[in-house]
Amino acid sequence: MPRPIQALIHPEALRHNLAVLRQSAPDARLWAVVKANAYGHGIEHVFAALAGADGFALLDIEEARRLRTLGWRGPILLLEGVFELRDLEACSRLDLWHTVHCEAQIDMLAAHKTHVPQRVFLKVNSGMNRLGFAPHQARAAWTRLNALPQVDEISLMTHFSDADGPLGIGDQAMAFEAATSDLPGERCLSNSAAVLRHKLHARQSGQSLPASDWVRTGIALYGSAPDFGQPDAVPTELQAAMSLRSQVIAVQHLQAGDTVGYGSSFVAQRPMRIGIVACGYADGYPRNCGTGTPLLVDGQPSRTIGRVSMDMLAVDLSELPTSGQGAEVTLWGYASSGALLPIDAVAQAGGTVAYELMCALATRVPVLADAALPEAP
Ligand SMILES: *Cc1c(COP(=O)(O)O)cnc(C)c1O
Repeated sequence: MPRPIQALIHPEALRHNLAVLRQSAPDARLWAVVKANAYGHGIEHVFAALAGADGFALLDIEEARRLRTLGWRGPILLLEGVFELRDLEACSRLDLWHTVHCEAQIDMLAAHKTHVPQRVFLKVNSGMNRLGFAPHQARAAWTRLNALPQVDEISLMTHFSDADGPLGIGDQAMAFEAATSDLPGERCLSNSAAVLRHKLHARQSGQSLPASDWVRTGIALYGSAPDFGQPDAVPTELQAAMSLRSQVIAVQHLQAGDTVGYGSSFVAQRPMRIGIVACGYADGYPRNCGTGTPLLVDGQPSRTIGRVSMDMLAVDLSELPTSGQGAEVTLWGYASSGALLPIDAVAQAGGTVAYELMCALATRVPVLADAALPEAP
C-alpha cells in the first residue's frame, strides 16, 4: 500500500467558485489565474472545471503550452510578460497575450519579427511598486507601443497591494484612473479580493467597483476567502477545491511530563493519547504548523502536537477515544464526513497564507484529480 497521504481536487468546487466570482463581477470578463501549476492544484486537473472562464492567466510559457495541448484556444495572458526576445516567438506561435511592464519589453517588441501583431497589457504601477510603469510614464509607454507594427490592441492593467487588507483599493484605483483616463483600451484591474470586496462594499455602502473589463481571479477559485482584516467580512460561499488527507499510522500513550517530537517542544501536562500522522513538511505541510494547528480526525476537530517533522506530525486524540490507528486525518479541506477545515484557518495558525500552502503541495503527494465533494455533515 502506498503511504496513505493524498490530495483530492474537487472540480465541482472550482465550478462553483467560478460562478460565485462571475456573479460578483457580472460585467467583466474573467481571467482564471493558473500560475504556479494552478496554485498547486495542477493545470491538467483544473482545466476542464475552469474552461468556462474567458481566459487563463499565468507566468510560464511552458504552462501556456500545456493549456494549448489541453485544447484551450481562447486567450492566455502572461502576467509578467516576456523575459527575452525569443519568448515573443513563443507568443506568436502559441498566440499568447502578454503584459508589458518595462521599457526593455517594448524594446524586445520593436525587435520582434512578426507579421501578426500581438495583444499587450500595459501595466501601470499604481502603488504596489513591483511591476509596471509609474503613472506619469504610462502615456509615453502607451504611445511607444501604439506606434509599433508588432502591437495590436493595448489594454491597461494594474495590480492592488491591499485588496485583502484594511487599506483597500481606493487610492490605487484613483491613481490608475488618473494616469489612464484619456487612454483608450480595455481595463484589467481586480484580483480575487478586489472582486469580492466590491460585493462587500456594494452591500455596506452602495459603492460600486472601479470599471474593469477584465478581472484576474486566482485564490478564490481555489476556495480561499480574503477576510479584509476583519474575519467573516465576506460570507464564505466559496468551496475548498483541494482536500489534503492522510491517516494515523501509530498511536502513543503519554504520561504527564512526556514530550513529543524533535526538540521536545511539547510536554504533556497529563496522560494523553496521541496519533502519528503520515504527513510532514516534505509533503508541503508547513513546519510552522506545530502545536495547536487545527486539523480533523475522522471529521472531528483536533490539533497538532509538537513540531512537524519531515514525514510525520502528531495529533491529539485525547478527546477522540474511538479514533486510532488508520483514522482519517484531514489537514485541510473536506473530510470524507463532509466536515470542512478551511485552508485559511491552517494558514493562519502557521503564520502564512493559503496561497503558500496550496503552492507548496509536494510532488510526492499523490493526487486524486476528480474527487467528488462529500455531502455536508
Ligand atoms: C497572482 C495574480 C493575480 C491573482 O491574484 P489572487 O489574489 O490569487 O486572486 C492577479 N493579478 C496578478 C498580476 C497576479 O500576479
